[in-house]
Amino acid sequence: MSTQLDLVQGDITQQDVDAMVNAANSSLLGGGGVDGAIHRRGGPEILAECRKLRASHHGKGLRTGHAVATTAGLLPARHVIHTVGPRWSATEDRTELLASCYRESLRIAAELGARTVAFPAISTGIYGWPLDDGARIAVGTVRAAAPSVVEEVRFVVFDDRAHEAFARHLS
Ligand code: ADP
Repeated sequence: MSTQLDLVQGDITQQDVDAMVNAANSSLLGGGGVDGAIHRRGGPEILAECRKLRASHHGKGLRTGHAVATTAGLLPARHVIHTVGPRWSATEDRTELLASCYRESLRIAAELGARTVAFPAISTGIYGWPLDDGARIAVGTVRAAAPSVVEEVRFVVFDDRAHEAFARHLS
């Protein structure tokens, strides 16, 4: 079955989905933007699981382009999938790392049996990735993903500019 791609403007933490993707940083211990909102609304259970991951499999933190799942705590989702986007670089092409965030998150979502997955525009905030290019990579990578149990991927963007960028690439 092919995955349906949707676009919503709003706050990702309010999405009623099976899995919510967090634009995390490698520490897994919280940050600003989406990360801050997820931990704020999700409550301490998510951070507690992240700390356990740091104490076990991810002692050095989560690598860029990789993804890992935890509980969603108080969020209206079953799982949070934390992925670490690359910082934008003007001198190095990090496209493959950003694509990997979407691919790996989707792979884990499918493993968890998630049918609906919400993604933020990874790396386009604090990490400085140009919005239009971030949207192009997001949409292209999800479209190219292998068929799986994931029925809906919902891109959840904050502002008008991001909405326009994603709408352009989705059309
Ligand atoms: P990164 O560090 O990967 O750049 P950010 O969280 O700073 O991640 O931003 C990623 C994108 O998510 C940006 O486009 C930002 O405007 C947007 N954003 C920030 N907070 C939220 C939120 N609560 N829901 C949806 N999108 C958000």
